[in-house]
Amino acid sequence: MVTNLSYMDFFPYHSFRPEQQEIIREIELSVRLKKNILLVSPSGAGKTVTALSAILPQAYESELKIIYLCRTHTQSDRVINELKKIYSSKFKIIGLSLRGRSEMCLNFSLLNSKLTPMDAMLTCSDLRINESCKYFNKLHNSRTPEDFSHFTSPRDAQELIEYCKEKEYCPYYFCKYILNKAQIIVCNFQWMFNPSIRFQILNLLATCLEDCIVVIDECHNVVDMATKVRSHKLTLSFLESCLQDLEKNILPSQYSRFVHYLIDLLKNKCNRHATSISIKLDPFNFLTNMSQCLEMNIATELDRLDIYFQKFPIKTRIELNRMRILARFWQNWIEKCKSERYFFCYHIIQKNNEKTISLDVVALEPREVTIPLFRHTHACINLTGTVNPYIYKTLTGLDRKYSGYKEIIANSPFQSKNIKALIIEGVSTKLKKRTPIMYNKMIQKIEEVIECTPANVAIFCASYEILRDLILNGLEEIIKKHGKKLCIEEPEMSGSKNAVLIQNYKNYGKSRNGAVLLGVCGGRNSEGEDYPGNDMNSVIIAGIPYHLLTPQADARINYYNKAFFDQGWLLGYLYPAMQRANQAAGRPIRKVKDKGAIIFLDSRFKSKKKWISDWIRKEIEIVPDEINGITKRLKGFWL
Ligand code: SF4
Repeated sequence: MVTNLSYMDFFPYHSFRPEQQEIIREIELSVRLKKNILLVSPSGAGKTVTALSAILPQAYESELKIIYLCRTHTQSDRVINELKKIYSSKFKIIGLSLRGRSEMCLNFSLLNSKLTPMDAMLTCSDLRINESCKYFNKLHNSRTPEDFSHFTSPRDAQELIEYCKEKEYCPYYFCKYILNKAQIIVCNFQWMFNPSIRFQILNLLATCLEDCIVVIDECHNVVDMATKVRSHKLTLSFLESCLQDLEKNILPSQYSRFVHYLIDLLKNKCNRHATSISIKLDPFNFLTNMSQCLEMNIATELDRLDIYFQKFPIKTRIELNRMRILARFWQNWIEKCKSERYFFCYHIIQKNNEKTISLDVVALEPREVTIPLFRHTHACINLTGTVNPYIYKTLTGLDRKYSGYKEIIANSPFQSKNIKALIIEGVSTKLKKRTPIMYNKMIQKIEEVIECTPANVAIFCASYEILRDLILNGLEEIIKKHGKKLCIEEPEMSGSKNAVLIQNYKNYGKSRNGAVLLGVCGGRNSEGEDYPGNDMNSVIIAGIPYHLLTPQADARINYYNKAFFDQGWLLGYLYPAMQRANQAAGRPIRKVKDKGAIIFLDSRFKSKKKWISDWIRKEIEIVPDEINGITKRLKGFWL
């Protein structure tokens, strides 16, 4: 066994950034004491290597596994790149980044079918059991110990996929075979938040939660992810597929009646509403009505279905797998229908002239997922640039570990002279104030920003409605007048089309006048995408990005009021909106030397200032409602 290691054995660079060494020491000590940690530090401070070099000594000494959770491929690749730098003749770290089945599958018939994740899982299992997937068969029959010797150093998912392509192995299952050798795995939140996936992964890693150090990157996403994994959805299209399965197989007629009933119900509901909407329903009454109309005891029929399944041959069970999922949805519904921690609704979405409907069970309590994870891991390190520690530990229970909790708030690495942060008075996107006069005034203020900015500007609006209203009120002409290109984000844009849009926008940043990116807060371009240097010089947050007060938002506020001592509005409504604004506001300042202007274009930000990220808040200046108020402050900033 290795002993007496320190972060210096793993830190791969010649020098530390300001404060970095002290932070590493604090994390290393806290991990040894099995404490949970929250590190709040703006981007550009080297959080990944800080966390890795701090936890590796304890992981090596106590033979612990490290599970590093990331949301995007870019973040996962960053972890593997740092591990490659740490890898040495003394510490031959085996680290792997993993992706989901849809990204690791090589089987064209499955990929071309454009299946939902659930259907893809079922089809894959069908193909494997019938020995019809050549990649799985080849892996199963031809893999050799030599294959695994290629993976004795840090490798990202793409390298693993390339290797498997050459060998014609299924990358998804190849990963599973080599996991038990890995000391560090990099994967998405689902792998640890979903209890059944977590169980499988820990088994494959040949370990238990108590022997794992979990690192959560960009942990401000934890609350959303934790509630998502406990939420369930039953779509009309899924029910129609169930019906097709039932037509092919022998199950008693009550199951077809059951599915027909649900299809008719959802179709009727969908036809009665012309726009996207969620309609609250009483889950208990819903069940009672359904039982009465069908003259059956739903719970008993679901239990019987389980018994039928056990009697069927494996092939039939696979063919009827959707019915099994349907049964689980209703067993879940029955189990949760009296819990105040869940919200039940019909959810209708109107997209591109197409309407879809689903029955949704929405989880409201994130701690059901986070507390068991945070309590049982050896230590859990939460990394973020924007989270408010009080809100985070309240909503997740990070501080409720018996061995303790450590909060580390790093100083901003950015210099004041490189940040201009302004809150603009005299404008607001409050619903009652959204008039052409107000939009014209907002556009005048936006024009001042555009005029003073050397290259790229981004305008992240509170909603697509505000984005459209700005265009209708003449924003496009103003942008053209100043010789900048306009790049508009659209709600239904495909990932690849959006990537082209963002690449073009960044390229315009290298041209003489630059461009304006028009998007929304909380969208894919205002979070997760970095715009260092001239990729974005100024960002405007047009309005406070509150979500619509839908029945679901209302249910969350009410539940939080009960669960968190009347703090529902703050925790469930105001803070998430400010988080979206903070995320968007941080986009132009990603590296220590970046210089950027952050404009909060709504006077209501003044009273919400305490929820703006620390490193921005300390630079904030309030701009009174006057002509050229912005110009006066921005002119000369980039000279
Ligand atoms: S076994 Fe692998 S390659 Fe084959 S369908 Fe499943 S995921 Fe795809």
